[in-house]
Amino acid sequence: MARLLEEVPGVVLAVFAHPDDPDVAAGGTLARWAAAGSEVHVCLCAEGDKGSLDPAADTARLVERRRAETAEAGRILGVARHHWLGFPDGGLEDGPELIGRIVEVVREVRPAAVVAPDPTAVFFGHTYVNHRDHRATGWAALDAVSPAASNPHYFPGRGPAHRVGEIYLAGTLEPDVWVDVSSTIEAKAAAIACHASQLGGAGEWLRGEVRRRAEDAGREAGVAFAEAFRRVALA
Ligand SMILES: [Zn+2]
Repeated sequence: MARLLEEVPGVVLAVFAHPDDPDVAAGGTLARWAAAGSEVHVCLCAEGDKGSLDPAADTARLVERRRAETAEAGRILGVARHHWLGFPDGGLEDGPELIGRIVEVVREVRPAAVVAPDPTAVFFGHTYVNHRDHRATGWAALDAVSPAASNPHYFPGRGPAHRVGEIYLAGTLEPDVWVDVSSTIEAKAAAIACHASQLGGAGEWLRGEVRRRAEDAGREAGVAFAEAFRRVALA
């Protein structure tokens, strides 16, 4: 039977690319941990400025709208604070600039656990190529946590070194731990629904889809609804 994760990290930092990513990838888990007393921080690397296919869209207004949607979703999930890095969509690179900014947040928040996208997941079935920003964010988060944030000689002057205990990679093709999100699946669906700028008229369909995916993961773990992660316990 798949391994169900019961422990609750004291302080959590979720590092994702776009404003709606953490809710889709790990919203049930973040809400469950927050309800159990975790201090949950969310770091968003990109602003969501390209989250529209309308060539006439006012991207500055879109960014503003997405910040408001994200704040509302965060209230539903119990997020303590959002950390916005402000890079443009599509502009994330796994290099010193992004890594340094994430290191700064890690050293400020001092999380026991970091949640991030699995950068090794590229193709989902035959119909979806994982967004470049998701892959870049995953690599940069891994590089920021190990070794950079824990070694004072990396990015000196950006806060005292901090060692993260665990990394949970979401959107993974190789899950090895599952979190029971049966008590927070509705909060997850409600948080995702806050990102109305990204949904068009797909709100109701999406609510069903969120439940279906969590049901599939739950079946593997022997619970009603679950989210799956690849876990790295750093020595
Ligand atoms: Zn995204």
